[in-house]
Amino acid sequence: MEIVYSSLNDQTGRFILRDSSPGFANSLRRAMVSEVPTLAIEDVRIYDNTSALFDEMLAHRLGLIPIKTDLTLYQEREKCSCGGVGCPLCTVTYTMSVEGPTMVYSRDLIPQDPSAVPALEDIPIVKLIEGQKLVVEARAVLSTGKEHAKWQATTVCGYKNYPVISIKPSCDGCGICVEECPKRILEVKDGHAHVLDGRIEVCSLCKLCEKACLTSGIGDEPAIGISTDRSCFIFVLEGDGSLPVKEITIQGLNFLKNRSDDLARAIADISGGL
Ligand code: SF4
Ligand code: SF4
Ligand SMILES: [Zn+2]
Repeated sequence: MEIVYSSLNDQTGRFILRDSSPGFANSLRRAMVSEVPTLAIEDVRIYDNTSALFDEMLAHRLGLIPIKTDLTLYQEREKCSCGGVGCPLCTVTYTMSVEGPTMVYSRDLIPQDPSAVPALEDIPIVKLIEGQKLVVEARAVLSTGKEHAKWQATTVCGYKNYPVISIKPSCDGCGICVEECPKRILEVKDGHAHVLDGRIEVCSLCKLCEKACLTSGIGDEPAIGISTDRSCFIFVLEGDGSLPVKEITIQGLNFLKNRSDDLARAIADISGGL
């Protein structure tokens, strides 16, 4: 099994998972969506709020702000040595004090740990008019998307099977499939249809080319065939900024490995080493 990135930056990534299975591909997708821990605001203490938003709406908006997360610095509150009370190893404290007239943005949240800033600084929270005021203290903790979507590190995480396009010798190069393909990945060369170099991964598997070929009067079987490689998958990922996309992939893989090890140990215990 191998993973090869075709594009990667901190925010988005695209990779191919080879020599794998549909079960593993889906497990990896689910792990990256639901099992990668990030920081998000969980507790909010509102000292003053004369804005147009209720306290609850304000707390909800603060909870949804993605926060840059260094997983080497924090651990989940339940597993922390403080016993879940909250300490610098499991909790980041923020303060916010703003007076109108102004728009309050995510950058107005001032963290106690400078590394745990909001991932995007221009997220609007609430507009204050003259005389309105907001004074808030908030605490962020680590958790996963399984508990609530605000801890989900990915905003996009999906995959498709790797496309396989075969052209049979019966192709007469009429070009109808080329015109029909919405992704513009086919061409006619030397009297036959071909896939343009480097474009096969763009195929959406819509099979419009197959249907178009049948309308060319070729007979009962199209000369172009669309299928998939069941052991190869194209993944597309987009992060919310809390973690780099590569880190999300590594964390997802680590989760699966740890779970597999747990399962192997449990089976060994049950079978008594037989
Ligand atoms: S399946 Fe759709 S996207 Fe792929 S080659 Fe055929 S028409 Fe184009
Ligand atoms: S429509 Fe069929 S016959 Fe015509 S070029 Fe495409 S594959 Fe070949
Ligand atoms: Zn703690």
